[in-house]
Amino acid sequence: MNCANPNKYANAGDDESFSFSQKDICVKTPRRCDECGTSIPAGETHERTLCRLQEDSAHITFRTCRVCQSIRDVFFYDYTHGLVIDNLRDYLEDCPLQLIPEGYMASLTLDARTRVFDMIEKIEAERRIKND
Ligand SMILES: [Zn+2]
Repeated sequence: MNCANPNKYANAGDDESFSFSQKDICVKTPRRCDECGTSIPAGETHERTLCRLQEDSAHITFRTCRVCQSIRDVFFYDYTHGLVIDNLRDYLEDCPLQLIPEGYMASLTLDARTRVFDMIEKIEAERRIKND
């Protein structure tokens, strides 16, 4: 048994009232990741997603840093913009490290793997405090 997400791809493209346009861009001024809130320095490539409700309507922009992109791509194909870190925390709270599919950790970038292990340590520390 492992904690592979059975819902991967489940909602991809189900809702036709939204249109998404996604691409990797490099900006000249610092931006903020809409997932983890960290600063994306000028000159660093990140993913920009434009979401429109209808053709020609105003759009919402989501910026995703490389770390969050790696976590999302490995752990979640079915996700909501802005909730990757919350979803990761929920996943790790429910899934002990030994049940995370082997390929997941190996597929993460080094920075993303560090972020996931930091979160696992934080969750374990909170559990120890609760049990004291
Ligand atoms: Zn991020």
